[in-house]
Amino acid sequence: MYRVTLIPGDGIGREVSLAAKRCIDATGVKIMWEEQIAGEEAIAKYGTVLPGQVLDSIRKNKVAIKGPIITPIGKGFKSVNVQLRKALDLYACVRPCKLIKGVKTRYTNIDLVVVRENTEDLYTGIEFSQGLKRTNDLIKYLEEQSGISIKTDSAIGIKPISISASRRIVKFAFDYAVKNNRRKVTAVHKANIMKETDGLFLKCARETAEEYKGKIEFEDRIVDNMCMQLVQKPELYDVLVLPNLYGDILSDLCAGLIGGLGIAPGANIGDNMVLFEAVHGSAPKYMGLNKVNPAAMILSGALMLRYLREEKAADMLEKATSEIIAEGKYVTYDLKKDRNDPTAVGTSEMADVIIERLKKINASERLKV
Ligand code: NAD
Repeated sequence: MYRVTLIPGDGIGREVSLAAKRCIDATGVKIMWEEQIAGEEAIAKYGTVLPGQVLDSIRKNKVAIKGPIITPIGKGFKSVNVQLRKALDLYACVRPCKLIKGVKTRYTNIDLVVVRENTEDLYTGIEFSQGLKRTNDLIKYLEEQSGISIKTDSAIGIKPISISASRRIVKFAFDYAVKNNRRKVTAVHKANIMKETDGLFLKCARETAEEYKGKIEFEDRIVDNMCMQLVQKPELYDVLVLPNLYGDILSDLCAGLIGGLGIAPGANIGDNMVLFEAVHGSAPKYMGLNKVNPAAMILSGALMLRYLREEKAADMLEKATSEIIAEGKYVTYDLKKDRNDPTAVGTSEMADVIIERLKKINASERLKV
């Protein structure tokens, strides 16, 4: 019996999390779920978006799965997602993007893995509001130190990139490539412009790559060029490793390549803890409509089963999900050719047919034994 922390999340979070939980349970793997609330629900109940018991539960269980959580733009609370990743040092965000048969896309051959650094870069949240005295003092200091003038009506954000975090994430990407029989790691950066920050990331990537010479190929790409290359010839790429912000943006781009956010799973990984979650956010406009695709959360659940070394259950869950998607009949609106197709099913109904298929696959596997 495994103990897993389950954070349902905001918006569509509860709907997709419940669907994923039902599918994971249907594999027969015994899990004791410890539900913890974070985000808007937690504000109402505990007056904070991230109550201490959520972190305690993940630290204790070492494995968690979470639905998306809203982060208001501009003002409001700090992102729960960023806080969780930093507090638990879940430094590697891994997002496999593999084409599933039956999904309508412009491509025929995509099998990419995005490895995003999760703890630093512009996500550190060190920002100085426009118009404050301390911001004006900082502007003066920066002008003195750099000799570059800054508009006095600016807000300032800080981008820390460290040797330790860069080496750690690139090493993670190479180790992932070795373990998963991948052939190449591409480091993505903007070192031509950000010579110090991205330059340091690239230097660390090049140095780390030396340790894997002869085993895994290495190359680097400038992030804007990488976007174009991914759209034009994604089949040339394999494992991508990126600092936090580029990783965030390219994750959605790669999700788009394989048919959208509805089917893109992910994991936030630390040295001894893992938090699984879909790439997508809380899509508030669809909240409570039983409309969105649960597959991204279900496939995140399959990643979780694999992490727990329940390979057979993970294979079955992935197989059942991909078969239902490939058949294209009992799928949510986003997987239909026409998004207004009245035959699209809801979130819970799609989970139901995946569970039915899972049972069939399980029964036929048992017959083989
Ligand atoms: P989003 O991913 O929530 O949704 C963008 C669009 O993608 C939706 O309108 C919908 O058309 C589509 N989509 C997303 N999930 C889908 C699904 N399961 N099935 C079908 N279609 C789906 O992005 P957003 O609107 O930019 O962000 C909404 C909120 O989510 C924001 O507050 C943001 O900060 C937050 N967010 C949270 C996470 C997380 O918890 N890890 C990740 C990204 C965004």
